[in-house]
Amino acid sequence: MMMDTIAKNLSEWPIRVDIELLKSIQNDLVQAKISNCSLANELWYLKQFMLIRMNYVEIFNMLQNKQYSEAWSSLADLENTIIMIKDTFEIPQIYHIDYILEYIHKIQKFYPYKFFTSREEIIKEMKCGICGAVVNPAKSCGHEAGRVYCGVLCAYEITKLDLISLAVVENPYDKYAVLKLSDKEHNYDLLDFLMNGLSDAFEEWDYIEKQVPKPEFKNAFMNKPCPCGSNKKYKHCCYGKEYTLMPHIEVIIKNPKKKLGDNIIISNGLWKDKE
Ligand SMILES: [Zn+2]
Ligand SMILES: [Zn+2]
Repeated sequence: MMMDTIAKNLSEWPIRVDIELLKSIQNDLVQAKISNCSLANELWYLKQFMLIRMNYVEIFNMLQNKQYSEAWSSLADLENTIIMIKDTFEIPQIYHIDYILEYIHKIQKFYPYKFFTSREEIIKEMKCGICGAVVNPAKSCGHEAGRVYCGVLCAYEITKLDLISLAVVENPYDKYAVLKLSDKEHNYDLLDFLMNGLSDAFEEWDYIEKQVPKPEFKNAFMNKPCPCGSNKKYKHCCYGKEYTLMPHIEVIIKNPKKKLGDNIIISNGLWKDKE
């Protein structure tokens, strides 16, 4: 009965977060850990699916409140959780978890974070979160990190670590360490624009990336002097050159909360001077 109710809630569209149902799953999970391991494992996954949706709503609310930096870390947490679960469990499509993952990636795209610090480190010692045994690639305790044992997730805890170096990278494996500059702050214009148009966490939206002429080249004439000041005709100078273009993002929202102008936003770069 309980399982049917959970499956029904998880399959509902639009997504509806049911806190009471989550509480009763939690209670049943505590019981099942003692009496029924396979049920406990099943409940653990169902609980995660409910938490994923709840966390996504919380992140959306953070974004609406312009808590962009906090929301970034939470997005990375949620992304990692979903990827970890997908690794060991085939999530039914109808539970909308892939949908949420897709929207996490879309939102990340609107962030001005392109550079990250990355640590190079050597793990000296890890302990199994289930049995407490010291583990290393050569010596396993039999528990596998990321698997669920009787309703408990196995995670390895790093207990000794040597830091080798720090590097600045693009597209890191670990998205947490965002590079910050002391005299600049991040430019969140794209996110502001997006969030102004959205009213619900599970509202559908999309974007198209475009290249459009920079303002100075927008109204250039083929047979007139080139806007770059070379005294050559535009058609013999900068016409068709890649540097005359700049990236634009067109946001597509079916029923925007506020009117979004022509729905095209120019990114004015990743950084702003601090006020
Ligand atoms: Zn173990
Ligand atoms: Zn030119």
